[in-house]
Amino acid sequence: MGEQKRKLQHFISEHKKCIFCGGIVDATTIEHCPPRALFQNRIAPNSFEFPSCTACNNYSSDEDLIVAVIVRMGSPEHGDLDGKLQGMMKALNRQRPEFYKSFLPSAIETRANNRQDGIKPGQE
Ligand SMILES: [Zn+2]
Repeated sequence: MGEQKRKLQHFISEHKKCIFCGGIVDATTIEHCPPRALFQNRIAPNSFEFPSCTACNNYSSDEDLIVAVIVRMGSPEHGDLDGKLQGMMKALNRQRPEFYKSFLPSAIETRANNRQDGIKPGQE
């Protein structure tokens, strides 16, 4: 048995009830708050772990991804040290395309950016 699985089983044996649904279903996963995706290489403080059933944990995964992308994009110098932002953006496009599109510049913003950078229409 791997270290992660052993840690999960030990944690769940001590914390049996899901923090979201109150134990209607036994906890089977560890919910990380704030989400691990916020941290470079997904290394988060251990003290922010809570028992969760799979359904409840999965229910918040899209929102965790949205928050992580926003936080990482807001810190250009430190937000993508682990090189995972591009993959997170692809996942966001698959899971929540309406949010992904909201990160893209409008046609007006693109033209303004192009003017600022000296790029003219039709130029390659
Ligand atoms: Zn639950």
